Amino acid sequence: MLEALNQLLRGCFKRKTPGKTGCACCGRCCEAFGGHLHASARDLARWEHESRDDLLKHVNRLDWIWVDPETKKLLDPCPFIKQIADNKKICGIYETRPDICRDYPTLAHGHRCLSGGFLKM
Ligand code: SF4
Ligand code: SF4
Repeated sequence: MLEALNQLLRGCFKRKTPGKTGCACCGRCCEAFGGHLHASARDLARWEHESRDDLLKHVNRLDWIWVDPETKKLLDPCPFIKQIADNKKICGIYETRPDICRDYPTLAHGHRCLSGGFLKM
């Protein structure tokens, strides 16, 4: 039971306790923004180092993510959203997710996510 809870928390979009002041794993932010992201140089170097061709094929020549490998058109929403329960969605690539996802919500968002949760980094 405790291990299952730990796994859920590790898989959330933010390393915060789900609830009023943390990520509730609703997936709204990833559904809204997940197809309009940009990979950082650090992301690309990490994915190369990790041999993550499954991720690199979803990057276009201007480093926009995530694109269809065949058409190079932006996918919307992010293809790595993973539904784990009726109302719970997590990041399927959490350990190596892009910097832009790690940083969300930034100071520019008032550290508030799309669902209004306060997520201090
Ligand atoms: S919108 Fe907020 S609560 Fe929902 S997954 Fe994103 S960060 Fe978590
Ligand atoms: S890579 Fe992960 S955190 Fe980023 S938009 Fe996709 S599911 Fe969300």
